[in-house]
Amino acid sequence: MSGYKRIRDYTYEELLERAYSKLPSRPVQKEAFEVPRAEVMFVGGKTLILNFKQIADVLNREPKIIQKYFVKELGVPAYINESGQLILQGRFSSHVINKLIDVFVKKYVICPTCGSRFTKLIKKGKVFILKCEACGAETTLQAF
Ligand SMILES: [Zn+2]
Repeated sequence: MSGYKRIRDYTYEELLERAYSKLPSRPVQKEAFEVPRAEVMFVGGKTLILNFKQIADVLNREPKIIQKYFVKELGVPAYINESGQLILQGRFSSHVINKLIDVFVKKYVICPTCGSRFTKLIKKGKVFILKCEACGAETTLQAF
């Protein structure tokens, strides 16, 4: 019977450890990343993104950074009102807005090395450093 440890020989801690080691390892930070769809409304010749603040919160990005991104991509002035909504000069369909947000997420949120969304975007002169909090990778991107 040598090499066989009977169950009563285990300490409580060992048993706990054994029990945990048999659990399937949980996938780390791989849960679906649900970016809320932009709620778009037209007022006169302007486009409002009603849930802009919520989107910025989920992406964990400064609203100002996303505002600048829209200005760069659409080539129109934009500002954030007191309710945290983004107002763009001109009319842009929700399809266009959501497409741009998808591109922003892929480029400026998701870590290209490990696919984590837990990243920071740090501006350093003329570049952004996309720093991943999951794997530590640093990706240099052109700043805007
Ligand atoms: Zn990473």
